[in-house]
Amino acid sequence: MTTNVSIIGLGLIGGSLALALKRNPEIIITGFDRSYKSADEAYRRGIIDIVAPSVKVAAKDADFLIFAVPVAASTELLQEAVSWELKTSVIVSDTGSTKQPIMTAAQGLIDKGITFIGGHPMAGSHKSGISASIGHLFENAYYVLTPSANCPSDDLESMKSLLTVTQGKLAVLDASEHDQMTAVVSHFPHIIASSLVNLLASQEQRQPFVRRLAAGGFRDLTRIASADPVMWRDITVQNKEELVGQLDRWLSEMQDVREMLKTNDPTSIEQFFDHAKQFRDQLPSVTQDAAQGALYMQFDLHIDVPDHPGVISEITRILASKEISLTNIRIVETRTDVYGILVISFRSATERNQAAKVLEKETEYSMQIL
Ligand code: NAD
Repeated sequence: MTTNVSIIGLGLIGGSLALALKRNPEIIITGFDRSYKSADEAYRRGIIDIVAPSVKVAAKDADFLIFAVPVAASTELLQEAVSWELKTSVIVSDTGSTKQPIMTAAQGLIDKGITFIGGHPMAGSHKSGISASIGHLFENAYYVLTPSANCPSDDLESMKSLLTVTQGKLAVLDASEHDQMTAVVSHFPHIIASSLVNLLASQEQRQPFVRRLAAGGFRDLTRIASADPVMWRDITVQNKEELVGQLDRWLSEMQDVREMLKTNDPTSIEQFFDHAKQFRDQLPSVTQDAAQGALYMQFDLHIDVPDHPGVISEITRILASKEISLTNIRIVETRTDVYGILVISFRSATERNQAAKVLEKETEYSMQIL
């Protein structure tokens, strides 16, 4: 028996979800995107089976209707969907990074007896749009589901079973818990990273050389500040309450740090760093492709290479000969706080670990996975 899945929004996430779901031959995917170009590309690349002429047509025969558009668009569409013709058995979901506003917007559908299960696949890329979509995007990443309070357990099981082929790690959470937790591990760090970069930018006006010193550890620490500003604007707007709460706790923490600095007691200062070190060292690591956390990350390999011409081409040639693809390669000019002068990024821990093995065998350079 075939299952009709309709995906609204064929960008990075919608396209990747479609590709992953197509591993199940019994699934027929109908896609709709307000950009005809994206829908056309999705169809031509075989990412979807059918292009719908409108969102309502896409929704009509769906067994699963999944909104993979920006959260602001999802909230509008979920409210409009109350008046659409839908199968009574349809299960509606979304992929938005914040869940509470989505659950509120879906209340009209829920009141009509339609099952709504919020979704957040915690995987991403520095690219967006259908052309960036890949079938293995969700593998080993947490895929959080936030069912409404009255969601029938059979429907939750159907949703989980649909998503099994994504090979994501399915987790069921309450929507507000989800927003609180993603605020601390993802949304708030983005705000801090951007603030640090803005602080550097203002210091650079007085001391232009500081930009060069920021090339190593600082650049790595603030990598997430390079994420898409429009997406982060939306997430910040939607998770405002949680973020203000986090900021208040942060300001109080900074007040304590300020006092600690003023007191200048070496023991307390060491305890401060030690407490953070002990906790951080126990966080799950991703060296073995363990589930990626809420913060989108790359998988970096730091290589201590001599500064001579041809070294980059030597390394890329070795990786290419083993068909290991990299997503980024850069030379680190400042070596304080970071290991190795050459940093290569990979899409997964598996690819990064393979690269390390091959390079260890074929070169004499030492390397480290941080
Ligand atoms: P994207 O920009 O790559 O794709 C969004 C697509 O939605 C575009 O093709 C756009 O044309 C289409 N669209 C916008 N408004 C529409 C509308 N009203 N009707 C039909 N189509 C519309 O974005 P994305 O990265 O795929 O993100 C989609 C959703 O997934 C967002 O809610 C985002 O919060 C969530 N998400 C993103 C990431 C990430 O890292 N990119 C990770 C997890 C979840």
